[in-house]
Amino acid sequence: MAAQKLLLLPGDGIGVEVLAEVRRIVAFIEQKGILSFEIDEDLVGGAAYDAHGVAITDAAMAKAKAADCILFGAVGGPKWDGVEYDQRPEAGLLRLRKELELFANLRPAICYPALADASALKRELVDGLDIVIVRELTGGVYFGSPKEITDLGNGQQRAVDTQVYETYEIERIAKVAFELARVRSGRVTSAEKRNVMKSGLLWNQVVTRTHGQGYEDVKLDHMLADALGMQLVRAPKQFDVIVTDNLFGDILSDVASMLTGSLGMLPSASLGAEDKTTGKRKALYEPVHGSAPDIAGKGLANPIAMIASLAMALKYSLGKPELADLLDKAIARTLDDGYRTGDIWTDGMSKVGTSEMGSAVLKKFETLVSA
Ligand code: NAD
Repeated sequence: MAAQKLLLLPGDGIGVEVLAEVRRIVAFIEQKGILSFEIDEDLVGGAAYDAHGVAITDAAMAKAKAADCILFGAVGGPKWDGVEYDQRPEAGLLRLRKELELFANLRPAICYPALADASALKRELVDGLDIVIVRELTGGVYFGSPKEITDLGNGQQRAVDTQVYETYEIERIAKVAFELARVRSGRVTSAEKRNVMKSGLLWNQVVTRTHGQGYEDVKLDHMLADALGMQLVRAPKQFDVIVTDNLFGDILSDVASMLTGSLGMLPSASLGAEDKTTGKRKALYEPVHGSAPDIAGKGLANPIAMIASLAMALKYSLGKPELADLLDKAIARTLDDGYRTGDIWTDGMSKVGTSEMGSAVLKKFETLVSA
């Protein structure tokens, strides 16, 4: 069995604490002989800045490029507020995304039945919710040029951002969505604003054409992005995979995240292009939350978003979808048993810290794997 190259980048604050819990699960998977790992670790964010004066070193970047998958904690914190812009902690993550060309951001919104009452919506609308938003991450209005504010000379200024997409960018993200739908329930909804935006028109046409080039087994629908926003809070369970551009994806995935209760529960994956020879994609897995300076170092952080990010890595990079399902099931059963970190705690539940929650999930996982 070829060893899987895993790079751990804990980062700052609770990133370090939640990744420690994942390390224990990885060790168990290896000890059971299910996968063999070649594990490396490096600094990123404020921790890298303190040690090396940069948010990520070239040596760590080289490890990231060679890795089969990267598990990333979180970066940032008030300690680095005064650091020069190019070396601020977030610059480490942006460099990884850019140089590894991680163009597809997958954000699942799963509502565990045990937590349905923590959602902003009624239980019946979200109980058992399981959708994924596939957001284009490296193009669109955040990167298009020109991007400027000019002085019009009459006391007025003019701000311009450019929404721009080329065919290949839409094709490759559409393919990720179709392939993802195939290992789920086989449905993709593509969202844009073709009624008012040329980029939306091209998006719609290219997604439709790509669908007809070998993905006909997947059911494709199109929806205007504003209508989809409304449907997402009206009847979210109608969706399976949603694919959309960088701007709409940013907004819609934040809306979807609130359907599930807490920031401490949300994993994500960022994927690059498929390597022609190995068939593998560059991939980085991270919780959606940040370094949570308010609770860092206290053992209070919820490790579930990080553990669920490992489950995504097992599914999409490490070729073990059944094991990923068992890990997700272990999380659900731990919640069913009433274990809660502070962020998801409600009356009558057992309040636990990071390592207790990690141990509880690991114990359930061990039982499920050995069954
Ligand atoms: P945050 O996600 O770190 O925290 C927001 C709130 O949610 C805090 O009250 C925090 O205690 C709570 N929270 C977050 N994750 C939790 C968890 N796993 N368990 C329990 N509670 C949790 O966002 P913020 O406070 O706006 O940002 C803090 C720092 O993190 C900033 O420097 C920001 O730039 C950085 N940040 C980094 C990333 C990343 O690394 N990808 C993402 C977002 C923010």
